[in-house]
Formats: sequence, C-alpha cells, structure tokens
Amino acid sequence: MSNLPEAFVDRMKGLLGPEYPQFIGCFNGTPHQGLRVNTLKIVIEDFLSLAPFELKPVPWAEGGFYYGDEDRPGKHPYYYAGLYYIQEPSAMAPAELLGVRPGHKVLDLCAAPGGKSFQIAARLKGEGFLLSNEIDGSRVIVLGENLERLGVRNVAITQETPGRLAAVFKNYFDRILVDAPCSGEGMFRKRPDMCSVWSYTLPDRMSVRQKSILKHAAEMLAPGGRMVYSTCTFSPEENEGVVDWFLKEHPDFSLVDDVRFTWFDRGVPEWVGGSPELAKAYRLWPHKIKGEGHFMALLEKRADGGANSLPLFHKRRGISKLPVEYEFFMKEYMNEFVEGHFYVHKDQLYWIPPSLPDLSGLKVLRPGLRLGTIKKGRFIPGHALAMSSGKESVAQTIEFSSDSKEVMRYLEGFTLTGFDGKGWVLVTVDGYSLGWGKLADGMLKNYYPKGLRRVLT
Ligand code: SAM
Repeated sequence: MSNLPEAFVDRMKGLLGPEYPQFIGCFNGTPHQGLRVNTLKIVIEDFLSLAPFELKPVPWAEGGFYYGDEDRPGKHPYYYAGLYYIQEPSAMAPAELLGVRPGHKVLDLCAAPGGKSFQIAARLKGEGFLLSNEIDGSRVIVLGENLERLGVRNVAITQETPGRLAAVFKNYFDRILVDAPCSGEGMFRKRPDMCSVWSYTLPDRMSVRQKSILKHAAEMLAPGGRMVYSTCTFSPEENEGVVDWFLKEHPDFSLVDDVRFTWFDRGVPEWVGGSPELAKAYRLWPHKIKGEGHFMALLEKRADGGANSLPLFHKRRGISKLPVEYEFFMKEYMNEFVEGHFYVHKDQLYWIPPSLPDLSGLKVLRPGLRLGTIKKGRFIPGHALAMSSGKESVAQTIEFSSDSKEVMRYLEGFTLTGFDGKGWVLVTVDGYSLGWGKLADGMLKNYYPKGLRRVLT
C-alpha cells in the first residue's frame, strides 16, 4: 500500500521497532472479511448447512465466521432476511468482551451502523433492553434499518449527545459500550480512503473527544457495572493514553483482565508513561491475527451503593387500550399475539420493551419495535414486525427459494402475479421472513419498504 501517510509510518516504526517490517508487510495482504450469524433468527448449525459460503470460525466471537474471497454475502437474499450481519472480524471482539447477559440494561453509546448493537442484542436473547445511541442524523437511520432487518425487538434508538444522555441515566446501566470515534488507523488496509483524512494531529484531537464521551459514559454506569472502551486505531494517545487519563480521573474504576482473550496482545503502558495496569487492555494487530487493528479495555465501576432506578416508559406513556385496527389485524393475520406494553406516536404503534425507562426529553428515533401504521381505520403492518416474526407466528406465508426469480423480483419491489388468497401475507426466503405482501385478485402487492429495494445481480 503506497498511500499510507508518512508521519503514520514513521510513528509506527518508532513504536514497533523490530516488529515493524512484519506490521508494514501485512498492508500488502488483503483484509479478512467476516459475518456474524443472527442467533435471534437461526441456530448456527442450521445456518452452516444452509449458507452457500465458504465459512471458517472467528475464534473470539461466537457465530462469527470468515467468508471466502469469492463469496458475496451482501448480495444474497439471506442478508435481506437478516440471517447475518457483515462485520470485520476484529470488530467482533469488543461486544464479546462486554459480557452481556440476558436481562441486562445495556447502552451502546456510539452505535451506528450497528454491528456491535446487534451482537449485544443477540446476547440479551430478548430479555432486558438495549439503548442504541448514535449522534449523527444520517448514521442513526442506517442503524435503525440494520437493527430492524436483524429482527431485534428489545431495542430503543436515540440520537443524542453523551452529555444529554448522562443527565438522564445517572448510575443506571449494567453494561455500556463506548466504541469511540477515532482516527481509524486500524482500518487503513481495509479502507485506504481513510488515509486521506488522517493527519499527524488527528489522534490528539480525537483523544479530547474520546475523553469527553468516556467521562459521560462513566456517569451512566451502575455501581458494579462494566463498560468497554474500544477504538479501531493504533495511536497510543487514543488508546492507552485515554484509559490512563480515565483511571486517574475515576478512582472508582479499575481495569478487568478477561483471560479468555488469549488471541490478542496487551496494552503497552510504556508508550504513554502510564500505569502498569494498562497491560490489562488488549491490542489487536493485523500482522498477528486474522483481522484489522483494534484496541479495547474492560472497565469496572466499584460496587458502592445500588443502581439508580427510573420510571418505566410504559408506565408513563403506554396506552391502556389497544387500537381496534391492530386487534383486528392480529386476530385475522397472526397466530401469536404480540403481548406486552404499547405506545402510539402520531399514527405509529410500537411495542415497548418491559424494562425500558421513560425517554422523555430525549430525541428518540424509535422507543421499541415498530408494529405498524394506523391509517384510515386500517392497520398496515410495519417491516420491523415482519422481520421479528417467524413464519409460524403468521397466518399466511408465501415461500420463495433463495435461487428463485421471484425472490429477486420481490426485493426489487415488483408486484408478483399468479397467487390465490386474500389479505396480508409474510413473504419468506427458504422459510425466513423477508417482508410483507398483500394478496388480492391473483396478485401479490409488494410491501417491501421502498428505501430498501435492491437489484441483487
Ligand atoms: N459501534 C459501531 C458499530 O459497531 O457499528 C461503530 C461506531 S463508530 C466507530 C463511532 C461512532 O461514534 C460513529 O457512528 C460516530 O458518528 C459516533 N460519534 C462521533 N462523535 C461522537 C460524539 N461526540 N459522541 C458520541 N458519538 C459520536
């Protein structure tokens, strides 16, 4: 790779010494590509027998696989059925380190496009909730689309600054992921275009932002809770330097050594003249593992006192009676009633995760699962309901096989002909939900969302 910034190369030479030739040599290789199976929708063994890809396990991530150079998983209908998420293999490590368990209250503070939020949701197994936050207005839309396709129910999405969230959620979350914005040096091999936005002063400037984000995250963690700080960059200023600063400013936090992660190198305290504790952090080097450059550290807050409890969303803002249009749809078209707490905003009906706190005053993209729209006395089911429902929970389905012309035409947005029946139907690919259609007069009207329609050839 010839376009690596000179100042970056010089600094890496200085840091790595005799290891440098090995490091720089790997920039001539191709980056490794990975996907993570969506265990909310399919068991890993079933996916392995179904998927037409050359898959090899990523050792540090359950359900993570490298795929072959010839594979094009982003163009396969299973991608649109949300059976997997395409994710760089090293990027699978931080959410694993976070140690999420079912029932946890989790915050993903810098979440878009959503790979790690999806990993967290898979670990929650539908119990507890995830607050997935992204500050950027266009990136938060992509985050929403990804989590919808993957069929995650117990997630609320906000577009907020860390400071405004911290004002609401003091000492609250069991787990927080801070996958911080960074100078992106670890991605130079995969995304050479990132070299052009890098400058010698960028790591220092990014570290100021990272410290501010981490400070607010610390306020939101419950006593005894854990958070992961991660970046995809090599610069010590943004990695050991930020964690060293954080530990000095927050004596109620300590670094946790998770011995499962034997594949990775450790943090290097000497690079920042920092505490020897920094050796409990992890460095993922592209010349030592099959993945790009990353850094991560697991931090625990001392267990003094209890966690803060907040009023629940559904108690404050839930509706006590379901709209009749929705009840009619459920009786007519669903075999399983979506139970729980509901909320209406304008013409949109949402299912609310039971343990979700009130989000009043925050900019909320969605407070839970968007069930659908109530319009002119009718209920129009939402894409999120289709993607989070298995075929057994819907009364009528039309099944296409993954290599059929029909599945391609459905994803492109065409109306299809030659079908009997009437009313709402779940369209599936090899039995896995793709979206809604509506049958009438021998035709299948296409309800695949307009913004998601694709030509997959
Ligand atoms: N965790 C994501 C994933 O796995 O898909 C990737 C996150 S990316 C490394 C960092 C994110 O932080 C970006 O989406 C960026 O918009 C967001 N960000 C930038 N400045 C921020 C700030 N001041 N506070 C919070 N998030 C910020």
